[in-house]
Amino acid sequence: MSDIIRINNLSFRYHNKFVFEKLDLSIRDGEWLAIVGPNGSGKSTLVKIIVGLLKFDGTLIIDNMPLSTYNIPHIRKQIGVVFENADDYFIGETVADDLAFALENLAYSPNEIEHMVLDIANTFKINDILDKDPHFLSGGQKQRVALAAALVTNPKILIIDDALAMIDENEKEEILEILDKLHRDRNLTIITITHNLAETYKADRMIVINNGKLIIEGPVKAVLQEDKIFNRIGIEIPFMVDLSIKLQLYGLIDHIILDMNEMVNTLWK
Ligand code: ADP
Repeated sequence: MSDIIRINNLSFRYHNKFVFEKLDLSIRDGEWLAIVGPNGSGKSTLVKIIVGLLKFDGTLIIDNMPLSTYNIPHIRKQIGVVFENADDYFIGETVADDLAFALENLAYSPNEIEHMVLDIANTFKINDILDKDPHFLSGGQKQRVALAAALVTNPKILIIDDALAMIDENEKEEILEILDKLHRDRNLTIITITHNLAETYKADRMIVINNGKLIIEGPVKAVLQEDKIFNRIGIEIPFMVDLSIKLQLYGLIDHIILDMNEMVNTLWK
């Protein structure tokens, strides 16, 4: 698989304080990568760099193009980003307007726009709220609309910057299922930025950063085993991960089990 994002020797500082020094990181085309780190570790700065909002030293290649002033418009079209405070980014008076906005800018015909809006609304199960004002929706619905708006133009990469933090667990689970399907069916590359390990379970790979340094990376379940590292940097360990690690110490299971039913069935055998 080829890399869709390649970061080499990246350094960035605000005033005199370095956030990143010679960071290397590659993300494969079609990969779901979770980037985990405590507050202040550099996660949002990295997102801003990737979408071309901050000047940096080093190389950043996205979709086979070096990020440069000249290439930013092309690269931006390949990236959808959703932030925690979706409210700040709604432009339209209705959900439908909001979804159509980016398509109008790209000069699609009214027919194509209608088709694409309905298609993404189906995917995120928001057909019944297309005529509502997005500002008055529930937190979960707002994030569905924000995700749909980020993906309506079919970008290759979706970045979720802490955007699931404020929604309830059931809603979060449903949204993650939808994203998982898009990831599989459309080969969508997803980058989840979070300090909540429970949001990483569906990712293929996790990297953990602290003070701008990559401290561990690997398949999600392998990295989740590193409870001492998470404790040290102040990342909370979800109940099922903690339970799995303890049961492994007693030899009762031999891998991380994140689903309670699966745990019960495994212990019962
Ligand atoms: P995270 O998203 O992981 O919470 P950030 O990328 O926001 O981390 O911040 C990384 C570091 O850069 C922190 O030490 C933070 O205080 C600092 N920082 C972030 N934004 C600015 C800014 N606009 N000016 C100066 N320092 C900043």
